[in-house]
Amino acid sequence: MSSALHPASYTSTRLPGTSPRFRAFTPRDLDGLLRRVALSPDERLALRAVAAVLPFRTNSYVVDELIDWAAAPDDPIFRLTFPQAGMLPEPDLKQMADLLRHEAPKAEVLRAAHEIRMRLNPHPSGQLDANVPVHEGVRLTGLQHKYPETVLVFPRQGQTCHAYCTYCFRWPQFVGESDLRIATDDIAATSAYLRAHPEVTSTLITGGDPMVMSTEVLRRYVEPLLEIDTVRSIRVGTKSLAFWPYRFLTDRDADDLLKLLEKVVASGRNLALMAHFTHPQELRPPAVRAAMRRVRDTGAVIRCQGPLVRGINDSAGAWAELWNETTALGAVPYYQFVERDTGPQGYFGVPLARCHQIFRDAYAQVSGLARTVRGPVMSAMPGKVCVDGTAEVAGEKVFVLHLIQARDPDLVGRPFFAAYDERATWWSDLKPAFGASRFLPGLEAG
Ligand SMILES: *Cc1c(COP(=O)(O)O)cnc(C)c1O
Ligand code: SF4
Repeated sequence: MSSALHPASYTSTRLPGTSPRFRAFTPRDLDGLLRRVALSPDERLALRAVAAVLPFRTNSYVVDELIDWAAAPDDPIFRLTFPQAGMLPEPDLKQMADLLRHEAPKAEVLRAAHEIRMRLNPHPSGQLDANVPVHEGVRLTGLQHKYPETVLVFPRQGQTCHAYCTYCFRWPQFVGESDLRIATDDIAATSAYLRAHPEVTSTLITGGDPMVMSTEVLRRYVEPLLEIDTVRSIRVGTKSLAFWPYRFLTDRDADDLLKLLEKVVASGRNLALMAHFTHPQELRPPAVRAAMRRVRDTGAVIRCQGPLVRGINDSAGAWAELWNETTALGAVPYYQFVERDTGPQGYFGVPLARCHQIFRDAYAQVSGLARTVRGPVMSAMPGKVCVDGTAEVAGEKVFVLHLIQARDPDLVGRPFFAAYDERATWWSDLKPAFGASRFLPGLEAG
């Protein structure tokens, strides 16, 4: 895996003189794009089969400026947005490849795709039902309120992305399996809920990627929040810095967007762009560096987070470089996530023991300025579970864990122990250590 970027590669100065135009690529374009990679016809067919089941979307910036085609198909950014054969269980891959090979009727392909998706755990840990708040008897399905102080807002127009990550845990939203679709455009209801819940001090606008919305639409979601005194911070979760930095540079409404960010800061609130970065290669193009500069100039903070995924960033070197370089660019490392238990997790998942080893080895290499990062973290049913490490206690090898965030705030920050399991990749694989029946009073095994 080539993750070693020489620092010199960061100092190129070319910035676009004209406005690059966003161009999306969809499964229709896949065959053409894959001509740049040395693949056999069967390998190419396998990737088309994966794209018939799981979402595929990339764009001209990712293709022209992020991917190192000489390194594809092993290039980390290629793996970040292009399908790989191992993403589907073998029998499913074979079934879909056969259908495509024989040019089966579209309806048959769609039916097979649906059946395969339903086996890929599209609705992990009942997260939707448990987190949807109710206001005056109405379920607000475009909001999630899991931790007392923070409400997530999913704007209807922001439920897509500039490109799709192969490991995305929101993948069912992008393939039209829409009973999972969480979204709102009822801004008045959001405001009413927030006014009724003064304990909510932070709102996080998320998706998909809210930065796919025009500034005018984003404004409709952001400005009403400025009328609510108890909301002290506004966050926007986005991968646009990595996937389309021109959103902040040359897009038609880029300057208006920056003015909107300035307006939030001027209101006396903390404005944070929760930037999803996966690999240091995403920080190389001059455009992303210029975009980060512009965002920071508004007074907004950029905080960086992303999951640890096999074959893309499963090395301490990649993470150390990512944290060092984002810090150098004035951003703040925030969370390192564990890949969730949905979709192609079997392919991208990394065992918790190995996640912690990578986290620790990277953490040990960066200055205290970057040790703001917490991880590896599982966003699971009870809360955000951090793997603190492994230890031997009373002769038993255990994982040491704690909750950074919890549905029940009383559980936050209490160390607990799980039986060591080299193969465990998710919360549901863990059992309490020492033969105990639960992890803590009030914290049962998943
Ligand atoms: C991660 C997360 C938050 C935010 O948690 P912080 O620790 O404040 O960053 C809020 N709600 C949900 C559902 C989350 O998963
Ligand atoms: S940017 Fe986030 S929501 Fe969008 S595809 Fe990637 S992981 Fe999924």
